Amino acid sequence: MRRVYLNVSMWFRQWLAPPRQLLVVFAITLIPAVAGGWLTWRLIEQDRSLARQRNLENLESVADRIVAVSQQRLSELESRVAALPTEPKERTVLVIAQRDSIEVNPSGALSYYPVLPSAGEPPPATFAEAEKFEFQLNDPMKAIDAFRALARHPSASVRAGALLRLGRNLRKTGQLESAMQAYDELARLGSTRVAGLPAALLAEEARCTLLEQAGKNSELAREARLFHDDLSNGRWPLLRAAYRFHIEEARRWMGGHTETERERGRNALAGAFEWLWQQSKAGAAPARQQKILSVEGRPVLLAWRYNPDRLVALLTGPEYIEQAWRRIGDFQSVRVLLTDADGSVVLGAAPDGASPHVIRTSDMTGLPWTLRIGSANPIRDLAGAAARRRLFLGGFALTMLALAAATYFSLRAIGRELAVARLQSDFVAAVSHEFRTPLTAVRQFSEMLMKGRVPTEELRQQCYQLLDREGERLQKLVEDLLDFGRIEAGRYRYQFAPQDAGELVRGVVARFQEKVTPEGIRVELEAPPDSLSVSADGEALGRAIWNLLDNAVKYSPDSQTVWVELKRESDSLAIRIRDRGIGIPAREHKEIFKKFVRGSNPEVPQIKGTGIGLAIVQHIVQAHRGRIRVESQPDRGSTFTVLLPMRRPA
Ligand code: ADP
Repeated sequence: MRRVYLNVSMWFRQWLAPPRQLLVVFAITLIPAVAGGWLTWRLIEQDRSLARQRNLENLESVADRIVAVSQQRLSELESRVAALPTEPKERTVLVIAQRDSIEVNPSGALSYYPVLPSAGEPPPATFAEAEKFEFQLNDPMKAIDAFRALARHPSASVRAGALLRLGRNLRKTGQLESAMQAYDELARLGSTRVAGLPAALLAEEARCTLLEQAGKNSELAREARLFHDDLSNGRWPLLRAAYRFHIEEARRWMGGHTETERERGRNALAGAFEWLWQQSKAGAAPARQQKILSVEGRPVLLAWRYNPDRLVALLTGPEYIEQAWRRIGDFQSVRVLLTDADGSVVLGAAPDGASPHVIRTSDMTGLPWTLRIGSANPIRDLAGAAARRRLFLGGFALTMLALAAATYFSLRAIGRELAVARLQSDFVAAVSHEFRTPLTAVRQFSEMLMKGRVPTEELRQQCYQLLDREGERLQKLVEDLLDFGRIEAGRYRYQFAPQDAGELVRGVVARFQEKVTPEGIRVELEAPPDSLSVSADGEALGRAIWNLLDNAVKYSPDSQTVWVELKRESDSLAIRIRDRGIGIPAREHKEIFKKFVRGSNPEVPQIKGTGIGLAIVQHIVQAHRGRIRVESQPDRGSTFTVLLPMRRPA
């Protein structure tokens, strides 16, 4: 049974020898690694597509809510127009145009008007006489007097016309201060119309002209800013051409100005209302509707209702709708883009093209635009999936690592088992061989003696000595094996007692010298005369030193001397056994202390041995709480040093 096991293990060991061993590890790890890798990849893919699906569902639901809120908001706008409102709703502009009036709420929300009610202005003849002095007779002084008189007229519109003309003549005659006073007075007439324009506007404009003429640039800039602000805040209702002309003029005086968002918004609302006005006048627009218009590149949302007497319109930007979206909880997590029928952007920014987004066309929703909704932060949306992916990959890597480690350690363990099996079988062979030689000798000599084939007494004596030596060798072998068995099994009972190491070593050396003297071997001992006390099992320690001496002689076939040195080294006692033998390569310095291990030197198999000598030595030294060291180089000899703790003197 054991033989079969040994054969199989032998075959397996040979089969598993490197590099096949590596291939086996590779195969055992690779197959589950590929399977595990594939499964992990599938898992990651599935997880990612699930995360995408969830994000898409979330977008769908936000999109539906946005559509619902927008529809509700639009119908609110419509029903508000239908209810003939008097007040605008927040963020909307209410315009009510009747036969002779256009009412804008909040006032000034439109930068210009499509029409203006005609204001009663004085007939041109009122100023005919005074203008005769100015233009025909070229007598500005007289003209000034005439206009001054008219400037005290009870009618505000006559006063306004007179003051404007008075200022002009004063300017012509270089009386700039007086001209300025005339314009100040004109300004106080506020919205009284002169030539279709409010008196205050004309006064401000004239003041600017005056300051320009006087070269007072900083004052001009200040005055022009006031003028500009009045215009852009909608202080005066103006027609488009007048608004544009005067605002350009003001900007020129200011030395340039970039139109603000608010100004552009007012222009867009004014443009949208102008369009609605024209449509309603031409009867081209339905009596009630809502529409999104793009005016000067800005979208305006219009809801209106009209009859021949009255046009009610609510105007607003798309922010009106957007504001309603903000009530939706998930709104911050999405990005919304509104485009009109032509595909131009009404509001928002396009979601990242590569990331998933959902579309709601105006056909689907009944809204005047197409909605495109994507995630505001697609990377963050997939962050959870990315974290899980890292987890999967980490788990996979760990499993693979564990698998590789398990495979490696299993194979190493198998390898070790096989090596032990090999060592054991080598050991059995070596022991058998060790027994066979002395046994054969004993049998041969005892047979010769029995059969009286040894003629002389001297030869017989030699035979007896030989028998004795071989018997001793056998006994030593058997004792070694028995001791090894006991020591290995932990059954050996050490008897520690204080010992003089010098005495002990001298004793062992003397006995050993006696044994090897016939072979011409000399043991040189160097020991200090003083007593070196250790706590030791004399017999066990003696056996250890004997084994080391035996090895030193055995493995020094070409040298007749071995050296023993006993020395105190700080707290330790060093017993050094040195030879000039075959030596041991460095890679085997550790291995040789393992049981059954014999050196790889080609000379070793020629030398008798079982590979248990040093294992016994190490056991004994360790039991004495000591250490054993080897220094050796091939062909240069070896030194084994046993270090034992010294006993402290009591
Ligand atoms: P054995 O001597 O029976 O083979 P040991 O355990 O005593 O077993 O020694 C193990 C191995 O260590 C030996 O086979 C030999 O290769 C090596 N060895 C031990 N002592 C020496 C030495 N003094 N010089 C060279 N090699 C040695």
